[in-house]
Amino acid sequence: MTEIRQNIATKEWVIIATERARRPGEFAHPRQELTADRPAWDPTCPFCPGNEEPPPMEQARIPADGPWQVRVLLNKYPALRMEGERDRHFEGIYRWLPGVGRHEIIVESPRHNTCPALMTPQEVARVIRTFQARGRDLAQEPCIEQIIYFQNHGPDAGTSLVHPHSQIVGLPVVPSHVRSRSEGARRYFDDTGRCVYCQMVREELASAERLIAVNEQFVAFIPYAAFSPFHTWILPRRHYSTFLGASPEEIDDLGIILRDVLSRIYVGLHDPDYNYVIRSAPVHDMGRDYLHWYVTVIPHVTKTAGFEMGSGMFINVTLPEASAAFLREVQPVAG
Ligand SMILES: [Zn+2]
Ligand SMILES: [Zn+2]
Repeated sequence: MTEIRQNIATKEWVIIATERARRPGEFAHPRQELTADRPAWDPTCPFCPGNEEPPPMEQARIPADGPWQVRVLLNKYPALRMEGERDRHFEGIYRWLPGVGRHEIIVESPRHNTCPALMTPQEVARVIRTFQARGRDLAQEPCIEQIIYFQNHGPDAGTSLVHPHSQIVGLPVVPSHVRSRSEGARRYFDDTGRCVYCQMVREELASAERLIAVNEQFVAFIPYAAFSPFHTWILPRRHYSTFLGASPEEIDDLGIILRDVLSRIYVGLHDPDYNYVIRSAPVHDMGRDYLHWYVTVIPHVTKTAGFEMGSGMFINVTLPEASAAFLREVQPVAG
């Protein structure tokens, strides 16, 4: 029998196809060249030192003088621009608004042949601190309603540029799936007086079956209803709705645990393409009691297809408990 599981926080259903399940190690990516095998510098790469575009594309660099460690750039072909009003316009039954907002790139390292799995925890924390600093700036813009922080690693995850970089998008609307998750968490709070995410942290720590790693501030696990193989959640133990309120200690610990998880995925699954996303409350509608920020990591080791598009449900051909046990056994890259 297959099993249909529900994620109590997002209300999403997933078919866990245990009969078709393969052993977790069989998902290792058949990549020709690992990130670490590339040259440390590429003369044709726009993000490598020496090839930098001057301001105004560059928004910030860290440190401000001397050789940089991290750079923040405006996206050359931004999805959104900080110009104009976000007023809605109506055309018959339809509505639209100008594409106002912000789209920035964070170049995570001067080294071409690295990624968070291979960086030091301090380097990963520096990127997360940059996310937070830029997010705090964007949150001051009246037109920004939602900020999405993410990294695309590899072509199946949506990037052709291999130099380690991540992105921030400030949106003038709250996306409907953020709204629907937020509604689910609010209903749970109304029913129980508790944050559903805090409850999940307690449950996962108690059962320990799906844990990948823990530290003082964070818990990393594969959700009970993970929608794809190795889909991972990293939750802060402290209840807080927005990433903008993460403490310096939390950011340091997130650098450690995010690197640890990505490093286990890199070694165990042979550097697969993946996305990670920081999920945080809407800027103006923070749901302090019932929303809880977190990071989700989604390795691309299987393809989604018509069934997923048609139903919004996923078929996961791994057992979350088996995938978590597999990642717990992997030795992360030393660092
Ligand atoms: Zn490069
Ligand atoms: Zn919570």
